[in-house]
Amino acid sequence: MSGVVIVGAGLAAVRTAEQLRRNDYADAITIVGAEAHLPYDRPPLSKQMLRGEVDDVALKPAAFYEQHRIGLRLGVAARGVDAAAHTVTLADGEVLRYDQLVIATGLVPRRIPSFGELDGICVLRSFDDCVALREQAAGARRAVVIGAGFIGCEVSASLRSSGVDVVLVEPQPTPLASVLGEQLGALVTRLHRDEGVDVRTGVTVTSVAGTDGVESVTLSDGSVLAADLVVVGIGSQPACDWLAGSEIAVADGIVCDEVGRTNAPDVWALGDVASWRDGTGSQARVEHWSNVAEQARSLVSAMLNLDAVPAAGVPYFWSDQYDLKIQCLGHPRAGDTVHLVEDDGRRFLAYCERDGVLVAVVGAGIPEQVRTARGKIAAGAPISEVLQPA
Ligand code: FAD
Repeated sequence: MSGVVIVGAGLAAVRTAEQLRRNDYADAITIVGAEAHLPYDRPPLSKQMLRGEVDDVALKPAAFYEQHRIGLRLGVAARGVDAAAHTVTLADGEVLRYDQLVIATGLVPRRIPSFGELDGICVLRSFDDCVALREQAAGARRAVVIGAGFIGCEVSASLRSSGVDVVLVEPQPTPLASVLGEQLGALVTRLHRDEGVDVRTGVTVTSVAGTDGVESVTLSDGSVLAADLVVVGIGSQPACDWLAGSEIAVADGIVCDEVGRTNAPDVWALGDVASWRDGTGSQARVEHWSNVAEQARSLVSAMLNLDAVPAAGVPYFWSDQYDLKIQCLGHPRAGDTVHLVEDDGRRFLAYCERDGVLVAVVGAGIPEQVRTARGKIAAGAPISEVLQPA
């Protein structure tokens, strides 16, 4: 077959294939996906789809792939790479030859094996996970959501909107503490409490009990909560196990340079599974939607030896919780000084400062000011440019 083989049929695969065709790549493109569904978009899984508002989350209709001569091998996982021979072996035994291989296998959600396989314990990463969680939620009255990262917060919001009582359990002092810091995390706690979520921080879940299905959950402070649904939202790990034995370097994701090249010849990686070198020389994995399109542009430019490899833009992510879109532009870090410049009790806007420079803006329900900060963050503007004089 040869041409470009892309393993993993998610957002990163589709963006890469699109970029290749947009840049006149004429040879074969084949996307291999473990799931049987057409490549689909994940953000709606914790939002509109979980609330039952949409069911079709396909990134592109089937006709798109025919029109652009993008072959789809769906419902079959890749199980190994022979980088010297330039081949990928699939779970059904088929061997695909490639000129260039792109790995875009995303993440696998972490579970808590000691909780066993009780009915009513769910994770949320895939379309099928969402269908299963939605079915469980339809009959649930009390849910315990473990982990107040983005998935845990969004699932809590969606379950509340569907009338389920929710306890959100987080070992850190606030939700989203590791991404937004505790000061802004406290505003996220407030948002969820105002919506009736019982937010418990500084505790973990130690056990889940039940006979046929979940009946109760015990926390590390000894409290026992009645529950008929448990959602485990404790993060995910890169889907790289299938590369064991290949020479491709893995260290918390597939190790790549700043355009997605791995240590193996003609093998690239992008998206959630890939750890790209950043401008400071460190390796970092980014688990956000907008990053994928940027990486696809850079990777394809480098693969096709195009003159200009696009520069990295200002990082961006969003999270929808209730009626609010929480948005973050830039790279907030622990230790930044956070200037909370607007807070009406629900919506808020904050600028993050490092060494006198505006490095990030975080807003909830204030999209205009977030948008206008982009140029200033890109330019490394002094913080005084965005702070109003008192
Ligand atoms: P994925 O989309 O995970 O695709 C990887 C694909 O590879 C999967 O379909 C998987 O089945 C397949 N695969 C794995 N192993 C193999 C194998 N061996 N062989 C073949 N195929 C394989 N980001 C935001 O910025 N804002 C949001 O609001 C937001 N909401 C999200 C909500 C949810 C529920 C989730 C799960 C993610 C959300 N994200 C959000 C993150 C965003 O969706 C991801 O960054 C994006 O999906 C990454 O794309 P990807 O292609 O790298 O990985």
